[in-house]
Formats: sequence, structure tokens, C-alpha cells
Amino acid sequence: MLRYHIWTIGCQMNKAESDRLAGYLEQSGYQSTDTAEEADFIVLNSCVVRQSAENRVVNKLAALKSLKKSRPGMSIAVTGCLVNGNTEQLQKSLPHVDYFLKPGESPRWFDMPATQDKTRMLVSAHPSPATFVSIIQGCDNFCSYCIVPYRRGREKSRPVSDIICEVKELVRRGVREVTLLGQNVDSYGHDLPGRPDLADLLVELNAVDELFRIRFLTNHPKDMTSKLLDAIASLEKVCGQINLPVQSGDDEILKAMRRGYTVEHYRRLARELYQKIPEVALSTDIIVGFPSESEEQFRHTCDLLAELRFDTVHVAAYSPRPGTIAAREFQDNVPQDEKSRRLRMVEELQERIATETNARLLGKTVEILVEAREKGKWQGRTRSGKLVFFPPEACDYLGQLVKIKIEKTSPWSLQGKLEISY
Ligand code: SAH
Ligand code: SF4
Repeated sequence: MLRYHIWTIGCQMNKAESDRLAGYLEQSGYQSTDTAEEADFIVLNSCVVRQSAENRVVNKLAALKSLKKSRPGMSIAVTGCLVNGNTEQLQKSLPHVDYFLKPGESPRWFDMPATQDKTRMLVSAHPSPATFVSIIQGCDNFCSYCIVPYRRGREKSRPVSDIICEVKELVRRGVREVTLLGQNVDSYGHDLPGRPDLADLLVELNAVDELFRIRFLTNHPKDMTSKLLDAIASLEKVCGQINLPVQSGDDEILKAMRRGYTVEHYRRLARELYQKIPEVALSTDIIVGFPSESEEQFRHTCDLLAELRFDTVHVAAYSPRPGTIAAREFQDNVPQDEKSRRLRMVEELQERIATETNARLLGKTVEILVEAREKGKWQGRTRSGKLVFFPPEACDYLGQLVKIKIEKTSPWSLQGKLEISY
């Protein structure tokens, strides 16, 4: 029996890609294994957005090099952000790697019968009830700190019909919720004939039978339209969970980041979201310690977080990425200790906010889609994306919508007991 192992780090786009590659490998006769040592085919799905991620990828590649020495028959494929346009150069520096696959490209690692349907090949054989689907690859934005456009290339949208076809196939395999993915989902469709946009795609997906919920990320504050907000508010399957990275609460820093909006624009957008979608859960990304970020500018970010009270905040310390505008033009002059202090401050502030927000759900009943059973508990998410655990009963709840009465809350998750299932 041939076995495969996939190692993934990075964003949800990488996780979605790994699921699709797992489907491809399974269709080619491979079975999954948890350990690289047992595998005949290893896929390393890489991320280089931050230095820390790149370091982990480099270490993993070194470990695979020694593994291949002891098992020369195995194959190694690398995909994700490490794979740029220049695969020849990569091949030279990493001779132990057999295949390089650009993010989003279809693998041609084995001979497949021509009759096999392409979409089916790339759909995971056993998808989770809540699954990710990429709708647009690449990014045209060139924020000054970001390596993504250099590695993932320009924006390329998948045709609406392809996405609908994939989602219907996923639903046939038990999926009940899809999260549509892109570095900037708000620019979906501008490169397609007829220029359909994300709102148009949501209308079509909302009509797919047996699909219960639709989410999407990441939104860009400069591209999110009122039309999209209205679609979220009116389409019953579209969840009001919005990831809208602000990155900084200071106009000068936003300008140096080349984000293309002001704090006031962001504030107005957030208010429109709260007003049109009352149950909306808004999350954001923050970078602390951007070159020359002063204490006062950092304070502006904290003030914005306290004002808008996000549901979730993903915070990162700035790390210069060679090749980006910021790495070229600005000195990385906020000391590491200071970056760590600012990072902790944001985390502590957000922990307080999330503690209060979640505590309000105590005693309330929420609806969740059950996604998995782990460590003796079922787990699922509310429409707003909150993670909920409940103890196992005799039934199998996987893929079902159930109602849970919340008995315990923390900043990160909720616990409760089953009320009624249907
Ligand atoms: N397209 C999304 C995010 C893509 S990268 C957006 O527009 O926000 C994911 C996150 O990594 C970013 O939101 C940012 O917070 C972080 N990030 C990207 N480059 C970084 C860098 N050089 N240093 C630190 N964090 C970075
Ligand atoms: Fe990077 Fe900016 Fe594109 Fe996001 S929008 S992927 S941060 S360049």
C-alpha cells in the first residue's frame, strides 16, 4: 500500500490546497499517513509570509533531505508561497525535491485516465463538513510589507461555474458549509468575462441545495462594496462573519504600508457592517512594530481595537521580507523587545474584549454546525464563527445543525449541552 503525508503551514488557502492535493493523491491510489517516515509521497505546503514561518519551512526541508537519504524511493513535492516563478533556481538549491507546484496549479505527478473528471480529482475524498474553497488566487495590491504578490502572482479568479461545480461535489460528499478563500475576495471576478463579483457568486451559492452556510475571507477595506454588504444581509446562508484586516489604526502607518484607505474609511465601513448586519462578528489583522511605528501611533491602533471591539484579532510582529518595498525602503527599527511588548499588549486587550463578548452568551442557546469529534467532545461553530464544544451523546452529529445551551465561556471558545437536534 502506497502512503502519502502532507505537511501544511500558513493560511487557510494552504489548508484548502492541501485538502485538494489529498483528494488527488487518494484518487491515484495513495492512503494518508500521519508520519513522514512512513510515507512514499510527501507534500510540503509552505508559507513564507513571516520570517518565523519561512524558518520552519527551511527546517522541514532539511529534515526531509536526511529522510530521503535513508529512503531514496520516496518522492517529495513542495508547493505554497516558497514556490515562485523560478522553479529552475529552486530545483538547483533543493535537489532532493522531485516536484515544485505553484500555488493553485493542478498537479501532474501521475498518469491519470483521460476520462477522469478534473474537478472530482481535486476534491478531497473525505472532506470536513465545513470546508475551504479557493475562489481567487494571487494579489494585485502590493502592500509594502507583504511578500504574497511576489510569490503568488497576480489575481486570477476561478470561473463561477467551476466553483459551483466544486461546491456541489463537496455537498454530495457531506459538506454543509463552505468558506470561500482569496487574499482579497472583494476583487473576485474583475478578470472574468462579464465581470461577476463576490455578491453575484454568493447569490448562486445560496441556491445550492443541502448547503447550509457560506463564509468568505479575506476582505480588503478599500474594495468592500455596499452591494456586498447588502448581499450578506439578505442571503440567508451567508454568515455574518467578516474578516476585514485593518493592519494599523494610524493613518501615517497605513500610508507607509500602502494599504489604500484611512482609519476613518475603515471606521465608516465597520459601522455600516454593524448597522446592516446586526449579528455580525468582525475580525481583523494587525501588524505591530512596523518600521518607525512610534508609541503614539501604536496607541492609535489600541484605541481603534477598543472602539470597534472586534470578535477576533490576529496580531503579528512586523518582519521584513526581502524583495518587498518596506524591506527596501524602511529600516526595521522597532527593537524586537518592543515589538513583543506591543504584541502582548494587543493580545491582552483583545483577550479582555473577547472575555466580555463571549460572557454575554452564557445561558443563551446557539446553533452550531458540528464539524468534528475530538478528545471525547463534539465541536462546531456558530454562524458568527465561535467555537463550541459539547459532550458526546450516543448519536452521530457530524455535519448536523444542532442547538447548544451555553454553560461556560472563555475568550477563545464556548461549552454547553445539547438542546434539540434536527
Ligand atoms: N490579504 C490579507 C492578508 C494576507 S497575509 C490582507 O490584506 O490583510 C496574512 C497576514 O500576515 C496579514 O494580515 C498580516 O497581518 C501578516 N503579515 C503579512 N506580511 C507580514 C510581515 N512582513 N510581517 C508581519 N506580518 C505580516
Ligand atoms: Fe499582502 Fe496586501 Fe495582498 Fe493582503 S492585500 S495579500 S497584505 S499585498
